[in-house]
Amino acid sequence: MQVKILGSAAGGGFPQWNCACANCQAVRSGRFAGKSRLQTQVAISADGASWFLLGASPDLRCQIESSPELQPRGGSRSSPIEGVVLASSDLDHVLGLLLLREMHPFLVWGTESVLSTLRCQNTMFTMLNRVADQVRWNQIRSGESFGLKLINGESIGMTCESRAVSERLPAYANRATAADAVLGLVLTATSGKKLGFFPQIASLTTELKTLFASLDCLLLDGTFWSEDELTRLQGTGQSAREMGHLPVGGENGTLQQLAGLTRPKKMYIHINNTNPMLNEAGPEFRAVRDAGWNLADEGCQFTL
Ligand SMILES: [Zn+2]
Repeated sequence: MQVKILGSAAGGGFPQWNCACANCQAVRSGRFAGKSRLQTQVAISADGASWFLLGASPDLRCQIESSPELQPRGGSRSSPIEGVVLASSDLDHVLGLLLLREMHPFLVWGTESVLSTLRCQNTMFTMLNRVADQVRWNQIRSGESFGLKLINGESIGMTCESRAVSERLPAYANRATAADAVLGLVLTATSGKKLGFFPQIASLTTELKTLFASLDCLLLDGTFWSEDELTRLQGTGQSAREMGHLPVGGENGTLQQLAGLTRPKKMYIHINNTNPMLNEAGPEFRAVRDAGWNLADEGCQFTL
């Protein structure tokens, strides 16, 4: 399985258009020991020819334009992108679908609550089904495994299994919660190697820890460093855990709770612009590296 990181920021990106936090100001000034980041996007492929997206970020157009693998290879219209697996209906995870509305066929996989939130509550998504041969939607269930396939129905030998990790639906949905609102995805390559994509986890259960220990690569929720990161900056709002994100640092943060996790390659993704670990000259970044983790960087590509 080829894995390519196309973006690693949380919703809003880094810098975020209306944010003047220390990180955003520093990165705009060009005097920041770290990188600007597009919103989280990962692409995977079994053969390097056909590609699948994990989510569809609002930055997808420029992420495709900066990745030759994802660009058309001939004919008047074509794309190596065969499908999109959705882990949630969060806007920073689905808005990119609307950027793929040019009458092109591709597959989308998502749970009942994710597909109904998009298709029944938001008429804009009907743009993806203006003609018969356009997007084909596939419903998945958390806990069940399914095979990724091409638009022509051909199997690629790669499977995906999902785990429900949060019941929280986005604020624009017409209900607050659903059992299958947010998933973690585990992709198994033809080689048997496993990639975990968990950009949002509200808590770390024993079951999740056991699952993580069986992976070859883990892309984990790196949204916030601390519980009160956003409330301190804004003076109001919800804590990290209340927003469905277990922080990286501090007591019972993921760094501490996963200190014994040695098997997989470990990378934080979905990093909010306020997170101090973005500053590569700071102690938080050092703590992350010392614990054997990396920040997922755009353009990073590896094979499992
Ligand atoms: Zn900021």
